[in-house]
Amino acid sequence: MKYVDLRLSRKCVKIVAVRISDHTLNRLAIVKAILAHGPVARSDLPNLTNLSAGLITQLTQALVMSDLVTETRDENARKGRPRLLLELNDAGAVVVGASIDGRGNLLTTFVSLAGRKLFETSGHFPLPRSLPDMAQHIGHTLNAAIAESGFSRDQIARIGIALPALINSQRGEVHFGSTFAAEPTPFAGPISQIVGIPVTIENELDCMARAEHWFGNARGIDDFTLVRVGFSIDAAQFASGVPRSGTSGLSSSFGHVKVAASEGANPCFCGGLGCLTAYASMYGILNSHGLLADLPFPPMEQIPERFAKFIGDVQIGRAGATEAVKKAANIFGMAIGNLLNTTSPLHLLVAVDDQKYLDLLEPACMAALEATVMTGVLPVTHIKFFQSNDDWRWKGTAALALEQLYLDDSRNGLSAQPRRKIEAVNDQNSDGNAKSVAV
Ligand SMILES: [Zn+2]
Repeated sequence: MKYVDLRLSRKCVKIVAVRISDHTLNRLAIVKAILAHGPVARSDLPNLTNLSAGLITQLTQALVMSDLVTETRDENARKGRPRLLLELNDAGAVVVGASIDGRGNLLTTFVSLAGRKLFETSGHFPLPRSLPDMAQHIGHTLNAAIAESGFSRDQIARIGIALPALINSQRGEVHFGSTFAAEPTPFAGPISQIVGIPVTIENELDCMARAEHWFGNARGIDDFTLVRVGFSIDAAQFASGVPRSGTSGLSSSFGHVKVAASEGANPCFCGGLGCLTAYASMYGILNSHGLLADLPFPPMEQIPERFAKFIGDVQIGRAGATEAVKKAANIFGMAIGNLLNTTSPLHLLVAVDDQKYLDLLEPACMAALEATVMTGVLPVTHIKFFQSNDDWRWKGTAALALEQLYLDDSRNGLSAQPRRKIEAVNDQNSDGNAKSVAV
């Protein structure tokens, strides 16, 4: 273990950097292969994971013993030694994924071990006065969601929560949120105490990247970088199939790399000047044109509509608007070009919330990349632009909870406890929507 001194708000914090062992990463790789291809023959897993047959036998036997994976004989197999088919145990337990939307709503989704959505609800909580206050509100809103779901507490193995903040996920702490003071604040622990279930918190972008890795554009790709352009600009890096944080354990702050250094640089909501977010995000473009001056921070609800109007001005060629987007795309291209120069990821995904901004951003950004990236790097980098959607909220947070469950070395206790069979509850709830949806 390595201790790192982190200076924040003039206080020094002792950080313990924890590395996930190869053993647990291999187990996770097997789980994801079974999720993607199940039911799958054990004999097919070496090709799907690049792990040895002996290691796969050892790890899958432990997963079966823990009730996380089921094993059945392949009735359709040809003569000879019967094949064993492996599937994630859909009825083994439930995990919960939750996220906040910036308007005081907590979206909570209940998901089976095999990644199947069982129940979803949204609860509103009062405006918090502080981060500890917010943790209390989220805990009580989760309790209400659990009561509404019909699942008992002993059926729910883990909870994963995504937050728009600088987070140390391993320690369960929030280190910075744009609306609260920058003090390392215990967050997962207090929520876990209220709900009586283990809770993991994580930065939103890491959760969005996990949704792409488990269910979307990065399925089967263990090493990639995701950049999102929305209200702000954020990035997440995946390495060996899990999010890569700094040695400090903190998530990335790519949106706050400085792209202008003069005194007249654009102000950012982080308190800094000249951040990438202050130039190329939806917030940055609108704020630098005075189009958010009448709104309290954070202006989440009004951003999409005002940004759509701004892009409409670009499309009709209104003076100033076209140049603003060109400048934003050029700055964004340089920033991600420098990201490629620094880290050289094989795969770069760029998710843009607004489709029309995506259409303008992609070609201008690619031109800026040509001018920024070192010769030889661009030809070996797979770059994909796409429009983001809110599915990541339940897929990413549920996958966070599932990942914690499958990584847990002490989880053998699950098989010792008889568990009720998990079924989709409230197939039709009060709003008439089906509540059981396969991923
Ligand atoms: Zn900033």
